[in-house]
Amino acid sequence: MSLGGVGRIAICGYRRILASHLPHVQRITLQFSRQMSTEMQSVASRLQSSGLLRTQGLIGGKWTNAYDGKTLEVNNPATGEIIAEVACMGRKETNDAISSAFDAYKSWSKLTAAERSKRLRKWYDLLMAHQEELGQLITLEQGKPLKEAMGEVGYGASFIEFFAEEAKRVYGDIIPPTLPDRRLFVLKQPVGVVGAITPWNFPLAMITRKVGPALACGCTVVIKPSELTPLTALAAAELALQAGIPPGAVNVVMGNAPDIGDALLASPQVRKITFTGSTAVGKKLMAGAAGTVKRVSLELGGNAPCIVFDDADLDVAIKGTLAAKFRNSGQTCVCANRVLVQEGIYDKFADAFSKAVQNLKVGDGFREGVVQGPLINEAAVNKVETFLQDAVSKGAKVLLGGKRHSLGMTFYEPTIISDVNSEMLLSREEVFGPVAPLLRFKTEEEAIHMANDTNAGLAAYIFTNNVQRTWRVSEALEYGLVGVNEGIISTEVAPFGGIKQSGLGREGSKYGMDEYLEIKYVCLGDMNRN
Ligand code: ADP
Repeated sequence: MSLGGVGRIAICGYRRILASHLPHVQRITLQFSRQMSTEMQSVASRLQSSGLLRTQGLIGGKWTNAYDGKTLEVNNPATGEIIAEVACMGRKETNDAISSAFDAYKSWSKLTAAERSKRLRKWYDLLMAHQEELGQLITLEQGKPLKEAMGEVGYGASFIEFFAEEAKRVYGDIIPPTLPDRRLFVLKQPVGVVGAITPWNFPLAMITRKVGPALACGCTVVIKPSELTPLTALAAAELALQAGIPPGAVNVVMGNAPDIGDALLASPQVRKITFTGSTAVGKKLMAGAAGTVKRVSLELGGNAPCIVFDDADLDVAIKGTLAAKFRNSGQTCVCANRVLVQEGIYDKFADAFSKAVQNLKVGDGFREGVVQGPLINEAAVNKVETFLQDAVSKGAKVLLGGKRHSLGMTFYEPTIISDVNSEMLLSREEVFGPVAPLLRFKTEEEAIHMANDTNAGLAAYIFTNNVQRTWRVSEALEYGLVGVNEGIISTEVAPFGGIKQSGLGREGSKYGMDEYLEIKYVCLGDMNRN
């Protein structure tokens, strides 16, 4: 079965499946009728009639094909069906998007904060008004269950609402001068044009978390969504236009990722790169940004420990670990990657956790009651299989699952594997799939050592009823986020980001604004002259 895998992205297909002289919308309709099952077609036609199904890039407020007509397929990971073919863009289109963003910056940055705020608020209202369609789009191209997808729309939109409010709070400072005839001011000004490169696991929220604060501060953006999930990004951009965010303030290009990335890095007009994705690509972007000394925010891979102490409430620990591990089928950078369980509670936890995981219903995200969708593509399943084989060959035991699901495609059984140790791939790297590896520990010190024994430092979770331990361990963990007796901790009002090789900068909250602001010091002299 052909899937929208990583390999496909780099090389855009030349295939133009439908006559290019037909009006755009009509081409999409024809494509649906040829390629999709009846069920998918009905979801797709609902989306289409909402006007949110876009397949061209957005440059300077105009929906635009790739200049050479290339397209790339977007697949439904649950069925392998082609949902749409989108423009496969590269360097030239990106350069034009940058120029549009640069032009739009001149006026967008000059609007009052209140005016920018109003338009962002309108964008939020429109995102929420279309929560259902956007949720369907996310399930269609990303695979997560519809309820979870609708949750992502609410979460994603919350960043726009929050930053619409923060737009009005970009305060400067007045500093007491060191000389009597001087006055010292600090102004905060927008960074300029921002390149925002985003992944497939949260097709909407990873965009709004960057674009919300950027626009609020007065920046303009060129978004490069993942080629696996561009449709949600395009729909969100359509709503931004409808909200009165001016042409050129939000541009979207997708296609040849390295070419688009290189164009963003090379341009002196792009003053900041904000990226969420793999550590390997993040490092490349960081190095590439050096050429023009751009600001960089990176939200990279994690290797989250989830530490369950003997004194934890078992039910709370099970519920929290389940959420931290199996959300989005394990495909988030804050997903628990290692479950460290203290020896006194280990067997009880393993037993109760297995019972809970057994009940997770796997299937197409559109089916009622499904909580585990497919993995994003074949490469993702292969990775899970490799990690599992490695662990089993080194002595780990599969307690539950451990193989592809009988549904086929990219469905994988929710899996628990015990007797995992720190030498196994499952402990060293992100599995990004529905596999919970259990590791045993004796003491608090050992747990902290195991938890910190990684280059990653994004999220960590602890389960304990001991207040002193909560503080001690939270302080000792080398992570940017710590959940205590809670597995879902992301919110628009709190700072999200990692330390060590998990990244730079923070997203969400008042701190998220700083990433898009420059500080300017103004010294006013000769104050005593009349
Ligand atoms: P993942 O493994 O989660 O897909 P990636 O880091 O490969 O993570 O992808 C995250 C985003 O980075 C996607 O939008 C992808 O297209 C983009 N990307 C991948 N390689 C590059 C590159 N060389 N330059 C710029 N963007 C890239």
